[in-house]
Formats: sequence, structure tokens, C-alpha cells
Amino acid sequence: MAKIVVLGAGISGHVAASHLRRKLSREHEVLVVSPNSNYQWIPSNIWVGIGRMSSKQILFPLEPLYKKKHIGYKQAKAVTFHPEGDKTEAKPYVLVEYVVGDKKGQQEKVTYDYLINGTGPKLNFEATEGLNPGTNKTYSVCTYTHADHAWEGLHALIQEMKQGKKAKILIGTGHAKATCQGAAFEYILNVEQELRRHKVRDMAEITWISNEYQLGDFGMDGMLLSYGSMTMKSHEMIEMIFEDRDIKWILGAGVHKIEDGVAYYETLEGEYLTETY
Ligand SMILES: Cc1cc2nc3c(=O)[nH]c(=O)nc-3n(C[C@H](O)[C@H](O)[C@H](O)COP(=O)(O)OP(=O)(O)OC[C@H]3O[C@@H](n4cnc5c(N)ncnc54)[C@H](O)[C@@H]3O)c2cc1C
Repeated sequence: MAKIVVLGAGISGHVAASHLRRKLSREHEVLVVSPNSNYQWIPSNIWVGIGRMSSKQILFPLEPLYKKKHIGYKQAKAVTFHPEGDKTEAKPYVLVEYVVGDKKGQQEKVTYDYLINGTGPKLNFEATEGLNPGTNKTYSVCTYTHADHAWEGLHALIQEMKQGKKAKILIGTGHAKATCQGAAFEYILNVEQELRRHKVRDMAEITWISNEYQLGDFGMDGMLLSYGSMTMKSHEMIEMIFEDRDIKWILGAGVHKIEDGVAYYETLEGEYLTETY
């Protein structure tokens, strides 16, 4: 009999636990440790952030499903790893800390035969001074609570635009080491489309800012897109889309500081510039 502990219940942890449960007989134990009570389908946050989906539509509670599927579940976070055990525990273990209920704050040694670490990327907002969602008129679509908040902000702005307010909207990635440009790219197009739908597109100046070397780089050196016998580079295509939709762009920018209405960034050439929003 083996005990498999899975840390995290995002796409990686949840899929790993589900497959293992399906493939392994019941004598083997599958246990998920994750601080979130819900699974969230993160890519749909680009729709939550423009109010076209509600956050309820992109999440489901983990506990009832895991109970039904005979997957163990602890709503806790991993704190330290002990692959060689310690003086009192011979087996490898993870020290976990409960995050809710009567056990909140309590720590427990969770032993394992096999460990899968699916705790995902760290959302490193603090690497960019002033960029915490909710401060300085900044928003994010990285989690469903962030995306709900982004829609609140966009919805309020659309109402103000309908009353005649003009606005500059800056969307992209923050810190120079940010690696997920795809989500921001999808979101800027969604925002642009939503403003059209509400007939306020002419009230907004929309600008893309990212650390990419070229548009359409997406942190993977771009793509080649084939249509029949024609091949197009992704930067040509994205330039075309942005020009068509009147979206301006700033590239090679590592944003290092945000103040209310001003983004400070360093370019690849080492210049220090600002952009208002
Ligand atoms: C808006 C948006 C759109 C995206 N669209 C796409 C797309 O179209 N295609 C694509 O391929 N990618 C997309 N991505 C990226 C993709 O969502 C992520 O790469 C993916 O969610 C990572 O999955 P994960 O399971 O590794 O981590 P996560 O989904 O971050 O899950 C991590 C899990 O670990 C848990 N956890 C955290 N700390 C601990 C701890 N100490 N102990 C235990 N558990 C812990 C968390 O609570 C969570 O349950 C998008 C991202 C965003 C933000």
C-alpha cells in the first residue's frame, strides 16, 4: 500500500490527484493538501474580469468531490519539507498548517511514500513597489477574487465614461521578470471589446506595457502561424490586431514602481521612463 500526498489543488495538483485515484486501487491512499476550499479554472478569469462570467461559474468546492471520490483532503498549507523524516518520525513528511476551522494554526506532520508538489507559481506583486491589486487603482486577473475586483473597477469606469469621462487604461505585465504575458494579452483584447460593446471605446486610450522584446513574444520567443501556404510571425499578427483596435504599446519595459496614476519602468536600453494611466 502506498500513500501519495499531493500539495495544491490547481490544474496540476487536482488533475494529478484525480488520475491517481482513477488508476490506483483503493488500498492506495491519495491525499490532497491545499489551503483553498475551491478549485478555480484560472484561464476564465479573463471573462470574470469583464463581467461576462461570474466567479461562481469558474469554481467548485473541493471537499464534497473528494469525499465522493475517496480522495483525502486537508485544507492546509505545506510549511516545510522533511524528505528524510526526523528524530521522532522515520518516514518522509511534510509539515502542514491548517488554515480554517477549529484546527486553524495547528501544525501536523503528513507522512508520504510519494509526494507531488503542485503549489503553482508565486504571485509576486510585492516585487513591484505599489503594485498590490486594490492599491493605486491597480487590478489583476490572476485569481477569481482579483478578477471580481477588476470587473468592479471596469464596470464603475464604464459608467463614468458614459457620463463623459475620458480615461487612460494601461494593461500588461509588471516586473521585468514577469513571465505570463498571455493572460494580460487576452484581457486587454477583452477590455477593448467590452468598451466597444458599451459604446464608450472612444473615451479610452488603451496601452499595452510588457517586458517582451517584440509584440507576440509571449515569453517564448514568439510563434510562427501558418494559414495554408502562408506563414506569419506572431509579432506581425499582434501588431496588426493592436493597430486595428487602436491599442498603443510599450515594449521591453520592466515596471519597477507604481504610484496612483503613474507607472515607472526601465527599458532594455537602461532608460528610466514613466507612463501615466
Ligand atoms: C488570467 C489567466 C489566464 C491564463 N490562461 C492560460 C491559458 O489559456 N493557457 C495556459 O496554458 N495557461 C494559462 N494561464 C496560466 C495557468 O493558469 C497556470 O499556469 C496554471 O494555473 C498553473 O497551475 P498550477 O496547478 O501549477 O498552479 P495553481 O493553479 O496556481 O495552483 C496552485 C495550488 O497550490 C495551492 N497552494 C499554494 N501554496 C500552497 C502550499 N504552501 N501548500 C499547499 N498548497 C498550496 C493553491 O492554493 C492552489 O490550489 C493563465 C493564467 C491566468 C492568470
